[in-house]
Amino acid sequence: MAAPAPLSDRSGLFAGLRGRCPKCGDGHLFAGFLTVAAKCEVCGLDYSFADSGDGPTIFIMMISGIVVVGSTLLVDAYYEPPLLLLAAIFLPLMAAVSIGLIRPFKGILIASQFRHKAEQGKLEL
Ligand SMILES: [Zn+2]
Repeated sequence: MAAPAPLSDRSGLFAGLRGRCPKCGDGHLFAGFLTVAAKCEVCGLDYSFADSGDGPTIFIMMISGIVVVGSTLLVDAYYEPPLLLLAAIFLPLMAAVSIGLIRPFKGILIASQFRHKAEQGKLEL
């Protein structure tokens, strides 16, 4: 089987967004919901380089904070609903937005890490 052609930079990021291998775009990047697979089953890319750390969480906290908390404040300002109603609507929305975005953001950051060959800093002595 011939090795798949490498993806362009933009396609690699899109593949990460879809949870696919940043090198070939076909293999699965995740073995579970957020667990990164050991390697790509199509091209054999070793995913041991992949360490997105807290990066996806920071982006999601900013996005969900602006969108959901901003929406909550607007609804509260315009309609003044009871506090429990606000909590019943916007707390599950906050959870849904956060959980829905974590996997795509983790995939994008791993694809970006692959694209830029990012790794831990090393001291050269
Ligand atoms: Zn692959």
